[in-house]
Amino acid sequence: MKRDLAALSGETFDLLVIGGGIFGAGVARDAALRGWRVALVEKADFASGTSSRSSKLIHGGFRYLEQYAFGLVAEACRERRILQRIAPHLVRPLPFLMPVYEGDHRGFTKIRLGMTLYDLMAWYRNVTPHQSLAPDAARAKEPALAPTQVSGLARRGLRGAVLFYDCQEDDARFCLENVIHAAECGAVCANYCEVTGFVAREGRIVAARVTDRLKGGETFEISARAFVNAAGPWVEAVANLTPFDGRRVALSPTKGVHLLLPRLTQQHAVSFQSRSARDGRIMFIIPWGEYSIVGTTDTDWRGDPGQVRAEPADIDYLLAEVRAVLPGSSVTSSDIITTFAGVRALLHSEVANPSWRSREYRIVRHGENLISIAGGKYTTYRAIAEEAVNRVSRLLGSRAAPCRTAETPLPQHRPPLSGERIADSPVVYASDIAHASEYEMAVTVSDVMRRRTSLALSRHGGAETAAAVARLMAAHLGWSDDQKGRYLQQYLDEWKQALP
Ligand code: FAD
Repeated sequence: MKRDLAALSGETFDLLVIGGGIFGAGVARDAALRGWRVALVEKADFASGTSSRSSKLIHGGFRYLEQYAFGLVAEACRERRILQRIAPHLVRPLPFLMPVYEGDHRGFTKIRLGMTLYDLMAWYRNVTPHQSLAPDAARAKEPALAPTQVSGLARRGLRGAVLFYDCQEDDARFCLENVIHAAECGAVCANYCEVTGFVAREGRIVAARVTDRLKGGETFEISARAFVNAAGPWVEAVANLTPFDGRRVALSPTKGVHLLLPRLTQQHAVSFQSRSARDGRIMFIIPWGEYSIVGTTDTDWRGDPGQVRAEPADIDYLLAEVRAVLPGSSVTSSDIITTFAGVRALLHSEVANPSWRSREYRIVRHGENLISIAGGKYTTYRAIAEEAVNRVSRLLGSRAAPCRTAETPLPQHRPPLSGERIADSPVVYASDIAHASEYEMAVTVSDVMRRRTSLALSRHGGAETAAAVARLMAAHLGWSDDQKGRYLQQYLDEWKQALP
């Protein structure tokens, strides 16, 4: 996959996709597999928006049953199976324990009933149906679980736990694999290319104006017969660049923060009810190699999605919740390895409680030939992309070739491991950096540290590893010392901002 901007302006594409998060990548791959001429542009790096900042779960969304979102859960359970089938190397089953304590917002009976419904939504085709565990059995599986929790003057005993399965992925890597496969199927994809305007004629968009963010702001146009705005939390901003009414994709975004801590559990993820939130919102402690990811918060967000950060109050809240459910961990902010935060592009809603806002999506048409995708979950990206491509096909008046993404495996792109070992967890070799630079369009140190590898989400996210990565990238990409220093500094600034 080469960054070839001349190829973007040399022809009229069937479809231009704006945004290289999972939805844009999914749409580009779907359309390219149907034989369309496709272009994809991303204003920063692929997956640098929400699609590298999720909880990294491919899940049915057990908690949405409470909101009667049965359609969403059934679709997510179906997609969980499909993604395991087409990408078993990227989407792996993960066992979850959900402990229930006396006085929890949802009692043990309600949770067990909900889990029965959850199994049913998957037609009992999940790894195994859920299992109810007595307190001793639950603690035998995860001895760190609190036998009792202290709430004010009361001590609340563990009533039991439910064992169930969802799946885990590396969201940035998964998104990138979709982009790479789209490119292998003929799509012309480029990162660091921002859509800054449109050229419209008689109710139709004929071209997008694009600015190259790497080469000092050079601008050019990309012509296409149809356009998909898959800009995630920026979807309104991109819709507002058109001469049509952009307000139709109004969002009510929320912020979600995660902490990376040393490993807190043995085999299982723990899904538990928040002690401090009155609605007992569901939170996660998720294994991530030799670490645990703890998340997440869910609070209104009105600022620039690019500026979202973990604030001290978010960190205190998450740490207090971990200490309540795993008291032996005694975690404090000095244990935090790093943090990451993202913006959920939720559909506009009058619902005051962010956790109760719908996770559904909407596809909106602007003018004759541009559609925007708003809302949605990572888990359901493939189905949403399929619907988006079908819609575009109808707009263009052509008979849609059938969608092939549910059957076509996502290829594996790991190079043979060789050369210097950069890190031991995750295991990264010099050959990974070479491959990322030469074949995966990594053009900055951040691209490699955060999205081609998961070094930034490990103990190896600091200056020493980043300098080694910068040295190797400089050799492959022919950087000057000045460029090497700039890209290294840019990454280190981001890394410091993510520290508590
Ligand atoms: P993004 O990934 O944000 O992609 C949009 C892209 O558009 C960005 O890369 C941006 O740079 C680009 N862009 C913007 N403007 C322009 C422009 N003018 N020109 C070119 N490019 C542009 N879902 C799950 O299924 N499981 C989970 O566990 C889960 N956990 C989550 C936890 C948190 C905290 C959050 C915030 C979300 C979570 N989600 C989860 C939801 C999931 O992450 C999102 O639904 C998904 O990543 C959205 O992808 P996207 O492609 O729409 O947006």
